[in-house]
Amino acid sequence: MTAPTHKGHETAPHDAEHRPQVAERDPHDAEHQPQNAQRDPGDAEHGPHDPVCTEPPSRAARSGGLTRRLVDRFVVTGSVLETERIAARMNRIRIGGEALRKLSSSPGQQVRVLVPDESGRGLRGRIGELRTYSVWSFDATAGELDLCVMDHGEGPGARWGRTTRPGDEVRFRAPEGSFTLRQDAPYHVFVGEETASVPLGAMLAAVPDDVRVYGVVETAAEADRLPLPRSAELTYAVRGNASAASSQVLPDALRRLELPDEPGVAYIAGEARTVQRARAVLVEERGWPRRSVVTKPFWTPGRTGMD
Ligand SMILES: Cc1cc2nc3c(=O)[nH]c(=O)nc-3n(C[C@H](O)[C@H](O)[C@H](O)COP(=O)(O)OP(=O)(O)OC[C@H]3O[C@@H](n4cnc5c(N)ncnc54)[C@H](O)[C@@H]3O)c2cc1C
Repeated sequence: MTAPTHKGHETAPHDAEHRPQVAERDPHDAEHQPQNAQRDPGDAEHGPHDPVCTEPPSRAARSGGLTRRLVDRFVVTGSVLETERIAARMNRIRIGGEALRKLSSSPGQQVRVLVPDESGRGLRGRIGELRTYSVWSFDATAGELDLCVMDHGEGPGARWGRTTRPGDEVRFRAPEGSFTLRQDAPYHVFVGEETASVPLGAMLAAVPDDVRVYGVVETAAEADRLPLPRSAELTYAVRGNASAASSQVLPDALRRLELPDEPGVAYIAGEARTVQRARAVLVEERGWPRRSVVTKPFWTPGRTGMD
């Protein structure tokens, strides 16, 4: 099992571009917008799950390697170094390469990965689909970055996580996002399900030992738990066969969590409606200021992109 670490080229906490995204609005509006307004062929206004290129084959053929050259300007290329079933339904994928030595990453940030579409390769000139994954571990010196991909069933991302093998090329955008630690927090509260455990693990590893942490991590079964740093300080909840979508188990466990009287900073991620419910527990029931709750919806039934 590989615990998360972030070594080297970490984005400075005071860097304005990487300030945490604070939940001022409902997760179903602003937080679903792309965080990075920069446009490129891998993002534009399409969202992460849209094809990167939709040119028909004939035109793509005429343009030769133009598409690839354009994409290469905006993506990092590495290769899979190793894979590991790190929990019952979670695949850890280590990506390495010279280009990764130049990256910066702050714990909690994510990358957008080009994964094969349902045909397993380019479809009608497309070169893949974009899926977003949090960085579990990053080592700039070694040029290595680990992702953990939930095997929830069928979907281009889950399929890629299950089937990719050492030696496969991986193309992705540099780490980005503001779901990161607030350095001025008196204490931190981490809340989420399986997929949220990935950034929460990276963030937990970065909290200084003398700063208190609390948290509630919900999984379908104990076997789905990731090896999180400071796990003895966290509370675990098992939802069994219930869906992770609109879960009551996670908000209920958060409701029971003993916390100091004064608010700290909470980080809530995972399924969108559950994120909303968990935030309501802190803001509406416990009276925390909205700015003290940082949220990031990752997925929800029927949607193929939340970023
Ligand atoms: C900022 C951010 C960070 C993320 N980090 C991670 C991460 O570290 N690890 C990770 O695994 N995912 C993460 N995700 C989610 C990821 O981007 C994909 O949405 C997810 O892998 C599903 O992609 P897919 O192609 O397999 O399925 P899609 O084709 O995109 O989705 C099809 C359907 O599958 C279902 N589904 C999707 N995800 C889940 C799930 N987790 N559990 C149950 N059902 C699901 C939904 O009903 C969805 O409509 C993150 C998303 C965001 C926005």
